[in-house]
Amino acid sequence: MVDRICISINNRCNLKCRYCHFNEKGHMDACPMDIIKILDNVKRYAHHDFKIGFVGNGEPLLDYEKLKEYILCISDNEWVKVYTITNGTIALEDKEWDFLENHQVNVGFSLDGYRELHNRNRCNSFDEVMKNVNAYKDVTGHYPTFNATVGKESIENANQVIHFFERFGTRITFSRMIGQYGIPLDEYRSFVKLAEKNLSVRQGGFDCTMYSGKCGAGKNNYFFANGKIYLCGNCIDLQPIGDSGTTLYELEKMSLDFDRNFCYKESL
Ligand code: SF4
Ligand code: SF4
Repeated sequence: MVDRICISINNRCNLKCRYCHFNEKGHMDACPMDIIKILDNVKRYAHHDFKIGFVGNGEPLLDYEKLKEYILCISDNEWVKVYTITNGTIALEDKEWDFLENHQVNVGFSLDGYRELHNRNRCNSFDEVMKNVNAYKDVTGHYPTFNATVGKESIENANQVIHFFERFGTRITFSRMIGQYGIPLDEYRSFVKLAEKNLSVRQGGFDCTMYSGKCGAGKNNYFFANGKIYLCGNCIDLQPIGDSGTTLYELEKMSLDFDRNFCYKESL
């Protein structure tokens, strides 16, 4: 059963993060995709808990008006929960943060940790991100959740990274850095184990080993981008498994057999 999809609503970003694998692999090409049609497919299919992540090869809040349209489109389906992840550099107006909050959209901010660490990887954007984190909190009354990419420097300064996130009291998704600066899975898992002692760390089910879960490739979640469907965002440089008009009932028929404690792509 498919219970999660990610949709890349645009292919543009105002940052050029050091480790961005979409940039690294040249996937920032604009390509048309009928997102309302994908959402209609979800509405026909979702009669069980279902998550849509408006995340992908681009910064979703750069296209806030479109994002709003998609959220409104799906809001009449009681089973569907929506989240998005921003790089935190887009200053929305209060009423725009408010809209996301009122529609129960979980907004995750990408923040790798303390200033020097974050700035090194993410184009010196720390101060801007923190400003928007606080603006978000002023409107909603709570801090957002965070997505922090864990690389070599995070491992070397693990206590400092963990201490940095303690002040917010919200859930952190630690994701393993992949690509040319990637770190091994066992080092990432040791870091997460340490972080769990002091922080609320997201634990995935069948989702992705990059997010402390098991690999969900070809099982329960898919990635829609560039008019195509991929096994996941990381698998965007493998062959797509269909075009974005493929129904979720068709996707449900897929099956891949491998040890899901490990990343499918890395096993190829
Ligand atoms: S914000 Fe995200 S999409 Fe944009 S460059 Fe950084 S990692 Fe890539
Ligand atoms: S193939 Fe790798 S990156 Fe993709 S969902 Fe599985 S574990 Fe995650």
